[in-house]
Amino acid sequence: MSSTTDTNLESAGLEATDRKGALLDPALRNDFPIFGTEIAGGLPLVFLDSAASTQRPAAVIDAISHVYQHDYANVHRGIHTLSERSTELYEQAREKVRAFIGAERAHEVLFTQGTTGSINCIARSWGDANLHAGDEILLTVMEHHSNLVPWQQTAKRTGARLRHLPLTGDGQLDLETLDGLLSERTRLVAFTAVSNVLGTINPVAEMVHRAHAAGAVVLVDAAQSVPHMRTDVRQWNADFVAFSGHKMLGPSGVGVLYGKESLLDAMPPFLGGGSMIDQVRLDGFTPAELPAKFEAGTPPIVPAIGMSAAIDYLNRIGIDSIGTHEQALTRYAYEQMQAIDGLRILGPTPEHRAGLVSFAFEQVHAHEFAQVLNDRFGIAVRAGHHCTQPLHAQLGITASTRASFYLYNTLEEVDQLIEGIRTVQAMFAPQGRKRRKRRP
Ligand code: PMP
Repeated sequence: MSSTTDTNLESAGLEATDRKGALLDPALRNDFPIFGTEIAGGLPLVFLDSAASTQRPAAVIDAISHVYQHDYANVHRGIHTLSERSTELYEQAREKVRAFIGAERAHEVLFTQGTTGSINCIARSWGDANLHAGDEILLTVMEHHSNLVPWQQTAKRTGARLRHLPLTGDGQLDLETLDGLLSERTRLVAFTAVSNVLGTINPVAEMVHRAHAAGAVVLVDAAQSVPHMRTDVRQWNADFVAFSGHKMLGPSGVGVLYGKESLLDAMPPFLGGGSMIDQVRLDGFTPAELPAKFEAGTPPIVPAIGMSAAIDYLNRIGIDSIGTHEQALTRYAYEQMQAIDGLRILGPTPEHRAGLVSFAFEQVHAHEFAQVLNDRFGIAVRAGHHCTQPLHAQLGITASTRASFYLYNTLEEVDQLIEGIRTVQAMFAPQGRKRRKRRP
């Protein structure tokens, strides 16, 4: 499968054998049926949009199909065989997630609809119960809208004030300003473990430690880190951690909210309805114990079971090997992109970033870029503001193009991306513009 020339690697100043040694066996692509799909009338798919949502191996698709065919019923309800089976699979999924993120107790793992659902749960439940006028919520400038808007809504309801940790010139968090922003008024610090645009890997444990020293509770948006690097929530010592199944080979419609037992116990339930109660009277209710207290209604039963199969798959490959593979691809892409005139790479150098590279060209809008990459090369990238408008405003742009890598990507695909970028650049360069055929 490896047809990438060593010349390419060497011209980027790289040690080809080292890089290849870091890569996963490309045969694992055969586990993903989507790679049989053709794009734009016959091009093989080059999928570089895993930061938005990943693809699924057959093992996950089969697990989902198997439950529906053999084991499906609602959970925790009927005393019948199928209900018992699906309840067991659903609770096994909770245990699988617990072990994957190093949580102490399975009931500290709550299934939600996704990272967004998890953060909104904390903003509503913990936020409304604990924040008052004059309190401060510290966020960062690099947050996804999912970790900005819920806090803006909470601030409006409670009178709390929002503050934002700035960035350094190279797209890392400016930690020198952290202690100056933290005070006895800071009740919550919420930040992303990895930026979905800059790729920056933030020092979670250190930030949690400093926030705790100021007396704040900490929420980590781990949507872009849990799928790619070993997670140990106890080592982080974070109070709440949120992530999504669909970004880690699992189905859409399921996510996780990890919370420390003592905090979850003290919080009022967020959504009301079936399953989250112990007793209901006409004039009130008493909530159920964890985790049911925060899982009102029919939960994402099959998506959670699919997520469990995804974790099995990730464990089989090895999360550390996946991280190393992505690092190798990212470094290669970064170094090749650096050699392209007029291309602005957003974010830090490879040693500080996870498996993605976003870039901007002055002459070409990101949407045009993505369109040509798709239509001419079968390359799927994300273009736009990536749900980070404030970050893009800070960077002085309105949109960017993002290539993101996962375990199934290859060096050859990076080469195709680079060729695609050079082609688009030539098409849109001032002299190329005239020659370019307009799209209808
Ligand atoms: N936070 C980050 C850093 C993300 O990248 C995303 C997804 N783009 C989210 C939150 C939201 O995740 P979801 O759409 O699965 O709720």
